[in-house]
Amino acid sequence: MCIFCEIAKKSIPSYKIYEDVDCYAFLDLAQAGVGHTLVIPKQHVKNIYELDEATAGKLFEVTCRLAKAISKAMNVEGCNILNNNGSVAGQEVEHFHIHIIPRVANDGNTFAFKGHHLTEEQFKEVKEKITSILKEYN
Ligand code: AMP
Ligand code: ZN
Repeated sequence: MCIFCEIAKKSIPSYKIYEDVDCYAFLDLAQAGVGHTLVIPKQHVKNIYELDEATAGKLFEVTCRLAKAISKAMNVEGCNILNNNGSVAGQEVEHFHIHIIPRVANDGNTFAFKGHHLTEEQFKEVKEKITSILKEYN
């Protein structure tokens, strides 16, 4: 049983924000910012590695529209668009979802990023690794 599939089917209640043939959006129960919304595909897809690009496009179109509407409605200064893939990246619910998190100044909701310091050589190596594999996806 997947909780987000149940929400999309309305077997489990949610605070629905938006729905169309492919997408469903609802308020996250843990509001990282007031108006925090999740956008999901209705079809069960575990994470971005299983997501097809056509569905990704539809989801981001909806995310784009909702980010504007939510930010206006909540009267906020900005928002984070966030998506976690895999438990190592903090994904808890294994049904692909995009977070829209409204932000206001000094809300304390900061990402504790510790940046990696790469040498120029390392940057070039990383770039080469990614761009050579990327050819497999064209
Ligand atoms: P993630 O850590 O990216 O997998 O995020 C999962 C999110 O789903 C968390 O922010 C939870 O608060 C949220 N969540 C889990 N169950 C529900 C639910 N029944 N209704 C709304 N949000 C939920
Ligand atoms: Zn699901």
